[in-house]
Order: sequence, then C-alpha cells, then structure tokens
Amino acid sequence: MYQYKEVKDYVYVLSLDNHVEIVEALTAFCKEKEILTGRISGLGAINEATFRFLNPATKQYVDKTFNEQMEITNLTGNISQKDGKPYLHLHITASRSDYSCIGGHLLSARINGACELFVEDYWDCEPMGRSFDEETGLNLYKF
Ligand code: FE
Repeated sequence: MYQYKEVKDYVYVLSLDNHVEIVEALTAFCKEKEILTGRISGLGAINEATFRFLNPATKQYVDKTFNEQMEITNLTGNISQKDGKPYLHLHITASRSDYSCIGGHLLSARINGACELFVEDYWDCEPMGRSFDEETGLNLYKF
C-alpha cells in the first residue's frame, strides 16, 4: 500500500503505491505508527476523487465524485483522533487537463501515477480529540 522512510525523528516521507486510495492508505499508516496528532502534506496524480461540501445554512453535505486524470497540486491535512481512532481532516486542490483547478474537503482519491507525502508526527504533544459541534455540524477540536 505504501513505502515510507523516517527522514528525521518522527517525520516520514511516504510513497503510496499506484491505484491505492489515499485516505485509506494514510489512515493505515497513522494506525501503524500510532500517530494521534500530526500534519500531512503532499502531491501526486489521481484519476478519481470525491469531495464534500457542507452547506452551512442547511447543514447538508453534498458529495461529488470526479472521474478524470488530475494532478494533486496540494494535499494538506491534520491528524487528530475521534472516538479513540485516527481522524484525518484532508483538503485537496487538483488540476485538470485544461490546467484549471478544483478542490475541497477530501473524502477519497485514487492514485493514478504517484503520490508523495510528508507526515509529521507531533508525538510529544497531548493527543487532540474532536467532538461533534451542533452549531456548525462539524467535528471540531476539543482542547
Ligand atoms: Fe474540511
């Protein structure tokens, strides 16, 4: 699913295998390394992605899948935990064949090419949990 190298203490470079789903692979890596707080950044190429849009007025989620080859121009996110499990919050921007970009809150994306990521494990800070916030309809940090 992935190869990784610890390039300095608690900082990993990941190379995900072709055709894997990015969120699944990152979640598996966080479980393997027991990362409870951290940061993710990366790039790559995908041919399928599902983004989620939350309408704040209605609190309804609108999910949309794009099936086309795209370059990940930025994938950024944080690692926290919810209900004792790793919780990834990921946003992505991806460029299409006409060089325009689309993006949003990432639910899933399938690699078609490569995906290279940095994962930083903030192992020495207190684990940060989340809980559901009624007002926004979001799982917000609870410090
Ligand atoms: Fe989000």
